Amino acid sequence: MSILVVGSVAFDSVETPFGKVEEALGGSGTFFSTSASFFTDVQLVAVVGEDFPDSHLEFLKSRNVDIEGLSVHPGSTFRWTGRYGYDLNEAQTLDTQLNVFETFRPQLPESYRDAEYVFLANIDPELQLEVLSQVRQPKLVVCDTMNFWISGKREALLATLAKVDILMINEGEARQLADEANLIKAAKVIIAAGPRTLVIKRGEYGALMFSEHSIFAAPAYPLEAVFDPTGAGDTFAGGFMGYLAASQNHTEASIRQAIIFGSVMASFAVEDFSLDRMRSLDYQEIEERFRRFKLLTEFDGLG
Ligand code: AMP
Repeated sequence: MSILVVGSVAFDSVETPFGKVEEALGGSGTFFSTSASFFTDVQLVAVVGEDFPDSHLEFLKSRNVDIEGLSVHPGSTFRWTGRYGYDLNEAQTLDTQLNVFETFRPQLPESYRDAEYVFLANIDPELQLEVLSQVRQPKLVVCDTMNFWISGKREALLATLAKVDILMINEGEARQLADEANLIKAAKVIIAAGPRTLVIKRGEYGALMFSEHSIFAAPAYPLEAVFDPTGAGDTFAGGFMGYLAASQNHTEASIRQAIIFGSVMASFAVEDFSLDRMRSLDYQEIEERFRRFKLLTEFDGLG
């Protein structure tokens, strides 16, 4: 089953302690689509400027991402500049230029409106709502956001949250959204605002899932070399939702498996800058790391 995603397609300039890139391919929609494309078909809704090179469009097409909903508008593509210190869990945003996203009003192609799986990647919550209102009968709506929108567009974000099934945000964002320092209490506040499941991403410490009656914890895959965490969250979401859409099963057991697939995909993404690790990745490597992940967390019945 295919997934409809709205998110940013961007030029990212990123500095980490291990190197830097200028204007590399990035954006929440790009990372998500690429990751999910290893599991299922993806339909992308976004906008780029006239400065966006054909080679990037070709890359998305090579991953089988449907780009009928990717508009090209006069002006410049969205740009994000960020920096990471030795604590790779927290990006410091140095600059955000919305550019063509400032005036973008998404019009979904007819072929996108019957989407059953919808991912509202990190983007202006007003755009998330506009996209959602054009989808006829979604079965599962998953959403991401960030501090930029939690503080800048809180009302619109709360309106979006009322309509989503699963929210995926990082630890700091959960605290900020709920205005509560304790994560367990923060999760209760957020679940009361709409989503029935909350997934909190904790960088190298893994992920926590909260639903009304249970909590699930997954570690991150231990890696010796982490080069660039940019896009890890969106890549996690791509693996998570790609797995759910491919299996068409939304039980808690399936959501737990999806979290591990998300963690596996994110672990690959951080091994190189931009989307470079995704370019050489194949499904066998994903399965192999999923298997190792199981061993990593096995502690019962080992004799
Ligand atoms: P993450 O998965 O959280 O590391 O997301 C990183 C991606 O989010 C980068 O590729 C950026 O281009 C994109 N991004 C950063 N800020 C924003 C924003 N305000 N709206 C949409 N996308 C953003």
